[in-house]
Amino acid sequence: MAFTYDDSNIFARILRGEIPCDKVAENDHALAFRDIAPKAPVHVLVIPKGKYVSFDDFAANAAEGEIAGLMRLCAEVCAAEGIGLEEGQGFRAISNAGSHGVQEVPHFHLHIMGGAPMGPMSG
Ligand code: IMP
Repeated sequence: MAFTYDDSNIFARILRGEIPCDKVAENDHALAFRDIAPKAPVHVLVIPKGKYVSFDDFAANAAEGEIAGLMRLCAEVCAAEGIGLEEGQGFRAISNAGSHGVQEVPHFHLHIMGGAPMGPMSG
Protein backbone atom coordinates (compact mmCIF):
# COMPACT_ATOMS: atom_id res chain seq x y z
CA MET A 1 0.00 0.00 0.00
CA ALA A 2 1.34 3.42 -0.90
CA PHE A 3 1.23 6.16 1.69
CA THR A 4 2.01 9.71 0.64
CA TYR A 5 3.67 11.77 3.34
CA ASP A 6 3.17 15.56 3.43
CA ASP A 7 6.35 17.22 4.73
CA SER A 8 4.44 20.41 5.58
CA ASN A 9 2.31 18.86 8.34
CA ILE A 10 2.63 20.43 11.78
CA PHE A 11 4.34 17.46 13.45
CA ALA A 12 6.97 17.37 10.70
CA ARG A 13 7.59 21.04 11.45
CA ILE A 14 7.93 20.27 15.17
CA LEU A 15 10.43 17.49 14.38
CA ARG A 16 12.44 19.90 12.22
CA GLY A 17 12.49 22.42 15.07
CA GLU A 18 10.58 25.00 13.05
CA ILE A 19 7.90 25.37 15.72
CA PRO A 20 8.15 24.63 19.44
CA CYS A 21 6.53 21.87 21.43
CA ASP A 22 6.17 21.10 25.13
CA LYS A 23 8.50 18.09 25.12
CA VAL A 24 7.94 15.31 27.64
CA ALA A 25 10.48 12.72 26.50
CA GLU A 26 12.51 11.64 23.49
CA ASN A 27 14.63 8.76 22.25
CA ASP A 28 16.38 7.92 18.98
CA HIS A 29 13.14 6.96 17.24
CA ALA A 30 10.31 8.92 18.82
CA LEU A 31 9.29 12.20 20.44
CA ALA A 32 6.63 12.81 23.10
CA PHE A 33 5.04 16.21 23.71
CA ARG A 34 1.91 17.63 25.28
CA ASP A 35 -1.20 18.09 23.13
CA ILE A 36 -1.84 21.78 22.57
CA ALA A 37 -5.57 21.28 23.30
CA PRO A 38 -5.62 18.61 26.01
CA LYS A 39 -8.73 16.44 26.37
CA ALA A 40 -7.57 14.91 29.69
CA PRO A 41 -5.43 16.03 32.66
CA VAL A 42 -2.55 14.17 31.01
CA HIS A 43 -2.63 14.27 27.20
CA VAL A 44 0.66 13.47 25.51
CA LEU A 45 1.26 12.76 21.82
CA VAL A 46 3.93 10.20 20.95
CA ILE A 47 5.19 10.38 17.37
CA PRO A 48 7.86 8.55 15.38
CA LYS A 49 10.76 10.61 14.04
CA GLY A 50 10.36 8.80 10.72
CA LYS A 51 7.89 9.87 8.07
CA TYR A 52 4.75 7.75 8.55
CA VAL A 53 1.28 9.01 7.70
CA SER A 54 -0.82 6.83 9.95
CA PHE A 55 -0.98 3.87 12.31
CA ASP A 56 -1.27 1.41 9.43
CA ASP A 57 1.63 3.02 7.52
CA PHE A 58 3.82 2.78 10.65
CA ALA A 59 2.73 -0.77 11.51
CA ALA A 60 3.36 -2.01 7.97
CA ASN A 61 6.50 -0.13 7.05
CA ALA A 62 8.51 1.00 10.08
CA ALA A 63 11.61 -0.93 11.07
CA GLU A 64 11.36 -3.04 14.21
CA GLY A 65 13.69 -0.67 16.03
CA GLU A 66 11.41 2.26 15.24
CA ILE A 67 8.37 0.37 16.49
CA ALA A 68 10.12 -0.69 19.67
CA GLY A 69 11.46 2.84 20.18
CA LEU A 70 8.01 4.38 19.94
CA MET A 71 6.38 1.82 22.20
CA ARG A 72 9.12 2.09 24.83
CA LEU A 73 8.72 5.87 24.81
CA CYS A 74 4.99 5.41 25.46
CA ALA A 75 5.85 3.31 28.51
CA GLU A 76 8.33 5.94 29.68
CA VAL A 77 5.69 8.67 29.34
CA CYS A 78 3.09 6.66 31.27
CA ALA A 79 5.55 6.05 34.10
CA ALA A 80 6.83 9.64 34.18
CA GLU A 81 3.32 11.09 34.13
CA GLY A 82 2.14 8.72 36.88
CA ILE A 83 -0.61 7.11 34.83
CA GLY A 84 0.85 3.66 34.12
CA LEU A 85 -0.57 0.68 35.97
CA GLU A 86 2.54 0.45 38.14
CA GLU A 87 2.22 4.08 39.24
CA GLY A 88 -1.36 5.16 38.69
CA GLN A 89 -4.84 4.19 37.62
CA GLY A 90 -4.37 3.74 33.93
CA PHE A 91 -4.77 5.60 30.68
CA ARG A 92 -6.13 5.42 27.16
CA ALA A 93 -3.93 5.11 24.05
CA ILE A 94 -5.63 6.08 20.79
CA SER A 95 -4.58 6.56 17.20
CA ASN A 96 -6.97 8.24 14.79
CA ALA A 97 -6.41 7.16 11.19
CA GLY A 98 -7.78 8.72 8.03
CA SER A 99 -11.10 10.42 7.49
CA HIS A 100 -13.25 7.83 9.27
CA GLY A 101 -10.84 7.94 12.22
CA VAL A 102 -10.98 11.76 12.14
CA GLN A 103 -7.20 12.16 11.87
CA GLU A 104 -6.30 15.85 11.69
CA VAL A 105 -2.51 15.67 11.48
CA PRO A 106 -1.15 13.29 8.81
CA HIS A 107 1.92 12.17 10.76
CA PHE A 108 1.32 9.01 12.81
CA HIS A 109 0.78 9.73 16.50
CA LEU A 110 -0.54 8.00 19.57
CA HIS A 111 -2.62 9.99 22.03
CA ILE A 112 -1.78 8.95 25.61
CA MET A 113 -4.52 10.26 27.89
CA GLY A 114 -5.04 9.80 31.61
CA GLY A 115 -5.20 11.42 35.00
CA ALA A 116 -8.99 10.92 35.27
CA PRO A 117 -11.54 8.30 34.23
CA MET A 118 -11.82 8.42 30.44
CA GLY A 119 -15.40 7.19 30.25
CA PRO A 120 -16.74 4.44 28.03
CA MET A 121 -15.67 4.19 24.38
CA SER A 122 -19.28 4.09 23.19
CA GLY A 123 -22.19 6.40 23.75
P1 IMP B 1 -5.66 13.77 15.42
O1 IMP B 1 -7.10 14.06 15.15
O2 IMP B 1 -5.46 12.42 16.03
O3 IMP B 1 -4.81 13.97 14.18
O4 IMP B 1 -5.20 14.81 16.52
C1 IMP B 1 -4.22 15.77 16.34
C2 IMP B 1 -3.93 16.38 17.69
O5 IMP B 1 -2.82 17.24 17.56
C3 IMP B 1 -5.07 17.20 18.29
O6 IMP B 1 -5.41 16.66 19.58
C4 IMP B 1 -4.47 18.61 18.42
O7 IMP B 1 -4.89 19.28 19.58
C5 IMP B 1 -2.98 18.33 18.42
N1 IMP B 1 -2.12 19.40 17.94
C6 IMP B 1 -2.27 20.11 16.79
N2 IMP B 1 -1.25 20.99 16.67
C7 IMP B 1 -0.45 20.81 17.73
C8 IMP B 1 0.78 21.43 18.15
O8 IMP B 1 1.34 22.32 17.51
N3 IMP B 1 1.31 20.97 19.33
C9 IMP B 1 0.72 19.99 20.07
N4 IMP B 1 -0.42 19.39 19.69
C10 IMP B 1 -1.00 19.80 18.55
